[in-house]
Amino acid sequence: MRASGHASVIDEFEALTEDAGRLQRETLREILEQNGEAEYLRNFGLGGRTDPDSFKSRIPLVTHSDLEPYIQRIADGDTSPVLTGKPVTSISLSSGTTQGKPKLLPFNDALIHSTMQIYRTSFAFRNREYPIGSGKALQFIYGSKQAKTKGGLTATTATTNVYRSEQFKHTMEDIRSQCCSPDEVIFGPDCRQSLYCHLLCGLICSDEVQIVSSTFAHSLVHAFRTFEQVWEELCRDIREGVLSSRVTVPAMRAAVSKLLSPNPGLADSIHSKCSRLSDWCGVIPELWPNAKYVYGIMTGSMEPYLNKLRHYAGGLPLMSADYGSSEGWIGANVNPSLPPEQATFAVLPNIGYYEFIPLERPEARPVGLTQVEVGKQYEVVVTNFSGLYRYRLGDIVRIAGFRNSTPELQFVCRSGLTLSINIDKNTEKDLQLAVEAAGRLLAEERLEVVDFTSHVDASTEIGHYVVFWELCSEAAEGVLRGCCNRMDLSFVDAGYVGSRKAGAIGALELRVVRRGTFQQISDHYIRLGGAMSQFKTPRYVAASNAEVWQILCGNVTACYFSTAYSSHVRRACRGGI
Ligand code: AMP
Repeated sequence: MRASGHASVIDEFEALTEDAGRLQRETLREILEQNGEAEYLRNFGLGGRTDPDSFKSRIPLVTHSDLEPYIQRIADGDTSPVLTGKPVTSISLSSGTTQGKPKLLPFNDALIHSTMQIYRTSFAFRNREYPIGSGKALQFIYGSKQAKTKGGLTATTATTNVYRSEQFKHTMEDIRSQCCSPDEVIFGPDCRQSLYCHLLCGLICSDEVQIVSSTFAHSLVHAFRTFEQVWEELCRDIREGVLSSRVTVPAMRAAVSKLLSPNPGLADSIHSKCSRLSDWCGVIPELWPNAKYVYGIMTGSMEPYLNKLRHYAGGLPLMSADYGSSEGWIGANVNPSLPPEQATFAVLPNIGYYEFIPLERPEARPVGLTQVEVGKQYEVVVTNFSGLYRYRLGDIVRIAGFRNSTPELQFVCRSGLTLSINIDKNTEKDLQLAVEAAGRLLAEERLEVVDFTSHVDASTEIGHYVVFWELCSEAAEGVLRGCCNRMDLSFVDAGYVGSRKAGAIGALELRVVRRGTFQQISDHYIRLGGAMSQFKTPRYVAASNAEVWQILCGNVTACYFSTAYSSHVRRACRGGI
């Protein structure tokens, strides 16, 4: 896209956000006009009304489980207007990491349009600060398996639905054509082979690469951890012009082999750069010297990967990508130079109708997009053109400010409590902070947590928290005992602290798992139909999530119990509290 094109996208965004309240009312009217015939809306007696008050008084707030029977009917082949006026064209599968299994969601052209609008908007703002001209992008993106539902609809991840869409391919050519890897790599059936080829394709055009990106930061970190293992093999392929035998998918082999010819000069240069690097610090700018930034979703459950990503990125800026879900898009990052920890998302008021449930008063009526208050936290409720009406997304956001008249959101966490035994309440964010605090003790030993998850062990009379850690290499027992105590003390919620002191919650348990355990977990989700691009490590695993639970338990190498509250507990047992 030319510079003038970016300027007009920015102008369009400024105009759209000038009177977000009016646009919200218009967007709701359009959604309800287009879908007035839908059985779901008729059943609630909306009777063709399109104003916000009638809509809110007749249509209930729902969660995915309320809509499941409707979506299942569509998937099973019911072509009547169930949720939308026009037929749903395919089914999206969410990553499934929150609930243990993918959710089915309706997908239609409206989602492709909103994806394009979001991508273009944030790309225009990024490009204003870091113009990339006609450069290429090393994109670690992956399609997922495509299945057919009983009714013959394609069921795949939302990202695959979008990337495969002809309309998206055609209209977004200027953004897509930057990708170093051919489609055979992106949509290959084996994501390990795709990853190897992405790295190879990126190295082949190393001087042209201006962006290194992925959907989520997790895939970026995973890519460079893998690079540490395979870099010599990649150099050999480039030197000899022959693709490694590890790539066995015929279409992928053929497409990548076409790009490969013997290049000893490039292989030597990569080899000497890699040999000079200390602990892979700054590997991205070293090998891709014209890269301007690293891009992907880095907020929420991706924050734990930021340290490692910064390490690989050296001095390159990290830019956090937009906020959306398989259900639909919410906002674009129009302040790309903010560090990921402060990233905000400006809601686009024409792609959906948004309501917000105040976190401090969940029983209160949700407020509209322009009625939210700065500094407060809310759960997001979405109504969109794809058949979701007053749908609780399950995400908590904080209002960071307003851009023109639309709010800029900061992602806080998923809404469900991750850890709770009695009166304690700890969210995904609390767990992340506790792991981070304990991780600082490891950093002193030049060690790091590769990934983590948690569990509540309620199998005994007094339940306790269990936190699983995969480490980059072995840690001394004394260090891990210290980490376990630090984690226990870092859950500062009064319910937890009080229960620990009174002995009503048992000692926190740290279970260390073998290297590669979390890779096995991601392989498991990918086998279920998830895409590597959308993978998010589940931060809580119940024993009922049998396969993941078995992977975790089968890989435990050591367990430590916190002694942080021992003296309180002893006193409590003697009746001292
Ligand atoms: P899925 O539909 O399974 O791919 O996951 C969608 C979920 O990913 C959202 O509901 C959020 O919880 C999370 N998510 C998406 N975008 C972001 C973002 N920019 N920051 C933090 N979390 C995000």
